Amino acid sequence: MAETMKAAMLHKARDLRIEEVPRARITGAEQALVQVEAVGICGSDVHYWAEGRIGSKTFSQPFILGHETGGTVLEVGKAVTNVKPGDRVAIEPGYPDRTCRYCRAGHYNLCPEMTFLADPPVDGSLCEYVAWPADYLFPLPEPLDVEAGAMMEPLAVGVYANRQVRVGPGESVAVIGAGPIGLLCLQVARASGAYPVYVVDVVPSRLEHARRLGATEVIHAGERDALEAVRGATEGWGVDVVIECVGIEGTVNQALYMVRRGGRVQLVGMSAATLASFPAWDVILNELEIHGQFRYVNCYPPAIALVQSGAVDVASMVTQRWALEEAPEAFAFVHEHRAEVVKGVVRVG
Ligand SMILES: [Zn+2]
Repeated sequence: MAETMKAAMLHKARDLRIEEVPRARITGAEQALVQVEAVGICGSDVHYWAEGRIGSKTFSQPFILGHETGGTVLEVGKAVTNVKPGDRVAIEPGYPDRTCRYCRAGHYNLCPEMTFLADPPVDGSLCEYVAWPADYLFPLPEPLDVEAGAMMEPLAVGVYANRQVRVGPGESVAVIGAGPIGLLCLQVARASGAYPVYVVDVVPSRLEHARRLGATEVIHAGERDALEAVRGATEGWGVDVVIECVGIEGTVNQALYMVRRGGRVQLVGMSAATLASFPAWDVILNELEIHGQFRYVNCYPPAIALVQSGAVDVASMVTQRWALEEAPEAFAFVHEHRAEVVKGVVRVG
């Protein structure tokens, strides 16, 4: 195997270069070496690419982008038993220290010592090889291919959202935002038995996609008032659950009034929105239950099962593909054509 590998390295905003870097290699008995084959382009990668930062998070050294990853195991350390060379796998992109109070309590997503792909200074997976702790690799059963493997990361977000907010059979749900995360939250809600499920967005093609993926009714928030539409559809009651996947002040506020009294709100959207005013009085009087969400915990196995069973369709969400060498163009394209890209995937090798 060569001593170097190709990687898509972000130097500064809009300066992504394909470079030869030292090849990843196993550093411990618990690690495996994965040949990367498919990497999804996530909004957070695009933020780093476009602005050189996400909110207050910046970087001082060039780093490799990418954290939604499917590939094939090439080599395993002595202590690895859950995967073997030749296995197609999804890489869960964050591993914790496993010992802190959060890890011990089962909330490893909150671990202060998390190592997360493409969270600088940690390099991402938009390169040929990644060495990773094998217990954060998940074999992909038929019919999941490596692109489905890359989709397990955003799907894990959708699984965790529905799990935290306890979407149940026959419950009415509104999903605000029909980007990849919203479309996956919608599908997991439907798979959990939710009905009806309303999806709100301002991009017609995304709403059309939501309809194909099981939305009961789609609401174009540019054409009508989404709050009135949902309230009207529920005889004025509001829905049992709102899953907010946009993360701006207007939609976060809207979520608090789209839900019924005693209902639950899951805040998934991350765009560093700060609420100028928080309607504590209404939250109290309406006895709302509001959950924040940071990534996910133990969600890769259910995500894989949902796709294997056919309950969730990730294949139709991949709308564009590029080769690793085309990664710079891919990021420019995704940034400029947000409305037409559901999920872009970089194929490596
Ligand atoms: Zn920890």
